[in-house]
Amino acid sequence: MSTATLESLKYSAVRNYVGGTFAQAGGDSLDVFDPRAGAVIARVGMSGAEDVDAAVQAARAAFPGWSTTPIKERSQVFYRYRSLLERRLEELAALVSEENGKVLSEATAEVLKSIELTEFACSLPQIVAGEVLEVSRGVECRLERRPVGVVASITPFNFPNMVPNWTVPNALMLGNCMVLKPSELVPLSANRIAELLAEAGLPPGVFNVVHGGTDAVEAICDHPGIATVSFVGSTRVAKIVYRRASANLKRVLALGGAKNHLIVLPDADPGMTADNVAASMSGCAGQRCMAASVMVAVSEADSMIPRVAEAARAIVPGRDLGPVVSAAARDRIVKYIDEAEAAGAEVLLDGRGVTVEGHEDGYWVGPTVIDRVTPDMRIAQEEVFGPVLAIIRASDADDAIRIENASPYGNASSVYTESGGMARYVTERVSAGMVGVNVGVPVPREPFSFGGWNESRFGIGDITGRGSLELWTQNRKTTTKWNREAGVNWMS
Ligand code: NAD
Repeated sequence: MSTATLESLKYSAVRNYVGGTFAQAGGDSLDVFDPRAGAVIARVGMSGAEDVDAAVQAARAAFPGWSTTPIKERSQVFYRYRSLLERRLEELAALVSEENGKVLSEATAEVLKSIELTEFACSLPQIVAGEVLEVSRGVECRLERRPVGVVASITPFNFPNMVPNWTVPNALMLGNCMVLKPSELVPLSANRIAELLAEAGLPPGVFNVVHGGTDAVEAICDHPGIATVSFVGSTRVAKIVYRRASANLKRVLALGGAKNHLIVLPDADPGMTADNVAASMSGCAGQRCMAASVMVAVSEADSMIPRVAEAARAIVPGRDLGPVVSAAARDRIVKYIDEAEAAGAEVLLDGRGVTVEGHEDGYWVGPTVIDRVTPDMRIAQEEVFGPVLAIIRASDADDAIRIENASPYGNASSVYTESGGMARYVTERVSAGMVGVNVGVPVPREPFSFGGWNESRFGIGDITGRGSLELWTQNRKTTTKWNREAGVNWMS
């Protein structure tokens, strides 16, 4: 054991969940930290190919029973699961806050979002009712969505409860069995999800959790028993997973990182814009794939820059803003700020070196606003994933659109303006899958689907809402003839 003895930790060893029971992974264990305290709270077992295989076998064994359970019966499990999420809201939010670091109000919002996702899943019987048509006299064709089999979901650290719930309720409601591989930085919430699903009446083996990192993910991509892989995380790893799993002939949807631009036009409402931009860049310590990363101030909109900095200054670390997830993340973010400053950008609000009383060992970065960033700087191009806003000044709306379009990512983009015509002009030209008008975090809530464009998403479809149906199901077309009058023709 590297840094802590198991007995001294708040949580016991974090184990895999396979076939309805917890089991220790075969590999070494890794420390799990509370980022607010910078202290170890648990140790998670790291899985290898054998652990993944055990979970896949359990899922395969459960599949015949679960996939043939009528969908309205399956939905009863998720109505109960939804109630459990609601009843345990405080406990689940506290756990998210503890392993991820986000403040309690953000963690609560995260679990509330999991409830909304589960509500959508409960409505799936209404949505997936099939189609039937008499295609020629006496001959009927019927289309129904069937599950694909055993599916895997690989998730990141930034939403330990919500991102698993992007995939779990929909995929299982549609009759699949799942192996979830959560981020090794935040393994605790995934095991609570497993416990709540069991309490809701989900049969053993339908949902399994394997903990670990690269080895577990590679084993998932290679396992012949897994039909579909969903991934949410950085673009670097999304590309690895997309390539490896599709080379093994699986269906894959891999969501990657982001660099989201908020374009502020001179006629924008200054107060609302400043508050929105500051909240978007600092919420969840900037560790959101929908966070504002760049504000593009168009022409006289530069007069709003001091107001944005003031709004960000009012966000207090430890009260409104949690730490970032790890010491490595903090150091990476600080390096981006150092480099931008050295390249000539002007740091209007500096979050480097911030500490919070009573939590001096936490991984803090305060809200940071950097003006006079130019498109050639690294901070303008790469995902920082911290509470850092880069401001680029643009001469007009077309200049701003060019700056946004130059990014290889394409998750989100928003425009701030009071003009409907300009809002339309900009939203039609930005290269992002989720676009906002006067909205800092333009998440498409259910029944709309979540998913970006370009290097923020590899594969077809979206990960939530109706857009996920193609991922989790395959269509069966059945042609039937009972009526002898149908006669003999080319279909006979
Ligand atoms: P990450 O890519 O480091 O890790 C994601 C998952 O991949 C984890 O489960 C991890 O164990 C695994 N992994 C890490 N390295 C691997 C490797 N070399 N080979 C195989 N598997 C590997 O991402 P993260 O740091 O946990 O999360 C932050 C990233 O996720 C950011 O880039 C953020 O933008 C992105 N994200 C995107 C969305 C979206 O919807 N597009 C949503 C949330 C987060």
